[in-house]
Amino acid sequence: MESGREYFAGILDELRRDNPALGEGFLLRESRGDPLDSLILTILSQATNDRNSGRAFRRLRNKFPTWEDAMHASESAIEDAIREGGLAKQKAARIKSILRRINEETGSVSLDFLKDRSTNEVMEYLMSFDGVGPKTAACVALFALGRPEFPVDTHILRVSRRLGLVGEKDTAEKAQESLQKKIPPEMIMDFHLGLIEHGRRTCRPGNPTCSHCCLRRFCKKSGLKDFTLQAEKS
Ligand code: SF4
Repeated sequence: MESGREYFAGILDELRRDNPALGEGFLLRESRGDPLDSLILTILSQATNDRNSGRAFRRLRNKFPTWEDAMHASESAIEDAIREGGLAKQKAARIKSILRRINEETGSVSLDFLKDRSTNEVMEYLMSFDGVGPKTAACVALFALGRPEFPVDTHILRVSRRLGLVGEKDTAEKAQESLQKKIPPEMIMDFHLGLIEHGRRTCRPGNPTCSHCCLRRFCKKSGLKDFTLQAEKS
């Protein structure tokens, strides 16, 4: 497999051509949210879609305008507020436990102190919470703290396996570890957003539209070998 900066830049160029929203004007690119908001929103997004997790987050904030309010609330009240996001009982327990621990350890219900920590310290601290794995921690580090961490979700894992960027049987955690080392830091944000969109719109789970795929020439995996060979000959 071709590798290195040029290879990733080539994929990114194609993704940008295919999706002009990437790059300069992409809203998320410059977003620097509150890190605790980002952590709670990412926990709520586990095992559900963005719409449901967004609604659950907004209901939670409406019911508890500050994270201190949520910390003092009962688990059942949090559970009720986030029900729309699924796994409400489990997520409510995790959220309450996270808020209490942050308060105990830092004296306030805020993760702003992470802004002054190294990226390794940020990842280590976030992953020390129950229910926070590498993907959730990397989402907070990337979107709220602007660190070049590469979260691998289900779309990115699928597309990366098909492209041959990672092994076909690699887990999301292994893929994240491997891609984190390979993708140049300045490309991480757009690469992340671009592959997710590509997985949603083109490289879908059951029926990828390979004939219209902007990444055909990069796709060398066995399931599409015949198609890729044809594409290369034409
Ligand atoms: S050619 Fe097909 S399998 Fe390969 S990245 Fe494109 S849509 Fe996915």
